[in-house]
Amino acid sequence: MNRGLGRLDDLPRVRLATDPTPLDRLENLEQLVGGPRLYAKRDDCQPLAFGGNKMRQLEFYFGAARAQGADTVLITGAVQSNFCRLCAAFAAKLGMQCHIQQEERVAKDDPLYRTSGNVLVERLLGAELHSYPHGEDEAGADARLEELAAELRAQGRSPYVIHLAPGHPPLGALGYAVAARELVGQLDDLGIEPDAYVVPSGSGATHAGFLFGLRALGRETPVLGVCVRRGADLQAPRLVTRCGEIAELLDLENPVAEADVQVTDAFLAPGYGQLNSATRDAILAGASHEALMLDPVYSGKTMAGFLDRARQAASGETLVFLHTGGTPALFAYANTLAEAAAWDGA
Ligand SMILES: *Cc1c(COP(=O)(O)O)cnc(C)c1O
Repeated sequence: MNRGLGRLDDLPRVRLATDPTPLDRLENLEQLVGGPRLYAKRDDCQPLAFGGNKMRQLEFYFGAARAQGADTVLITGAVQSNFCRLCAAFAAKLGMQCHIQQEERVAKDDPLYRTSGNVLVERLLGAELHSYPHGEDEAGADARLEELAAELRAQGRSPYVIHLAPGHPPLGALGYAVAARELVGQLDDLGIEPDAYVVPSGSGATHAGFLFGLRALGRETPVLGVCVRRGADLQAPRLVTRCGEIAELLDLENPVAEADVQVTDAFLAPGYGQLNSATRDAILAGASHEALMLDPVYSGKTMAGFLDRARQAASGETLVFLHTGGTPALFAYANTLAEAAAWDGA
């Protein structure tokens, strides 16, 4: 199994993700853009609580939490965070407590944003919700989580904190090194050598882990990261750092060169968690042509980048879209999407 991925299979991991997720051909979108062959790796089809990319990431965080004997997990994120929602799902499944800190990353007073989508699911899963007034203070959000953890410890619980800021081992990224190995196996079985992968780039755990996994397995296929959180000038160096940290975790030489880190922020505006017309069009194209559900924050923006790349592709090229989920956010953004439906052509 360990073809070049070092200690990956020796690290603690709680296996709740489906392995493998489907790899689907997108023939209707192929007709729409004309030219390349298109595939989607369906990590939106994970089994717990609407699935998504955080399933693979949380397998390693909960592995570490359990190895430490934790009975409670704390996590921080945007109000409509898929990471927080799936953390609550893991905790429910494993009989642990989950504390979620909601940051104010997106200026929205829409009641649906605050009560529906991921927030509704978190409540159903039995998580405890806390609020944090800032949205761009990663270290501050972590410090507040540590305070909560100290209070819980004083009450006799054993908390485990999933940190947000860089500087902590990127355990979640390992889940995407696993995904790279899995996807390469699926493509090899079909005899397909893709010309590019298109993936979202938020915290960078998915993008860095996937890129690292591919290169460690000796695959040189380009990976285009679509920025969903911050501009390319900040995201590219963040990924370089993340890849170095993954190498340390796995006790490997870093196989990722700086030139391997490709990011575009052409679909980010006006900012994190805010819709633009290219993303609206991508959400509608994915739904109406392939019955794919894409969200306005992550997978819709990534699909906008994928379709843009596909329109520039030569015929005979093969492109693979990594569908990272985000489905519940659609309901929280219902009003935004309804307004956007009336926007003039992109
Ligand atoms: C978190 C998230 C991303 C971004 O993943 P990172 O590992 O943070 O870069 C992409 N898509 C969805 C649906 C997410 O929830």
